Amino acid sequence: MPLSVSLANPDFDADMDFARTLVADGVQVFKVKTGFSGHAFDIHRLETLRSEFGDTIDLRIDYNQGMVGHEALRRLRDIEAFAPDFIEQPVPADHWDTMAQLRAAIDTPLLADESVFSPADALRAVKSRIADLFSIKVMKSGGMRRGQMVSAIAEAAGIACYGGDMFETGLAHLAGLHMVAATPNISLGCEFYQANYYLAEDLLAERFPVENGTVVVPSQPGLGIDVDEARLAEFAMEARG
Ligand SMILES: [Mg+2]
Repeated sequence: MPLSVSLANPDFDADMDFARTLVADGVQVFKVKTGFSGHAFDIHRLETLRSEFGDTIDLRIDYNQGMVGHEALRRLRDIEAFAPDFIEQPVPADHWDTMAQLRAAIDTPLLADESVFSPADALRAVKSRIADLFSIKVMKSGGMRRGQMVSAIAEAAGIACYGGDMFETGLAHLAGLHMVAATPNISLGCEFYQANYYLAEDLLAERFPVENGTVVVPSQPGLGIDVDEARLAEFAMEARG
């Protein structure tokens, strides 16, 4: 399934160099993290990405709850000019009415991330019509089965889902990958990029499998790739209660 990689560096030049590296690796889906360094900065990044790569890449936008209601609509209309696939969680998780209003006002699909953790959240989000799409993560839902429950509620409402990730290692990527692969309604790709692109070292005995911008589901039993026990011991920390 297609790998989506986040661009989140406040250093503009470093962010664009990273995007070029990713395109050279075959990545075609980018999630641009917005709202952390000003609207003009976000627009400049999107203009640069579209002028350099045109329509050869898909752009998704993620505010991580970074706007308040009164400033959101005009900014989202600016963002829509760059034809993103979706806009993710523009306002805080519990601002349900604002999410519903924004969803009704813009043409781009709105995706709920922090607003939808549990199956109960998903049911309420469907009833309140806060989003066109949901992001599902194993840790956010509380496990693979509960993630599938969120997807089932979404599917009944005609809402497609996206395979999100947290700050995690390849081990968690594997759990998420199997959940996504076994859940057809999680159809918008996945973002299991931390192990290969953000971490200095991972815990898996083999590299997390990404080929030409596509995540490959391993066919071995269990999660499909062994943990590197020596590296696990090296990075283990003592927990004090
Ligand atoms: Mg998000």
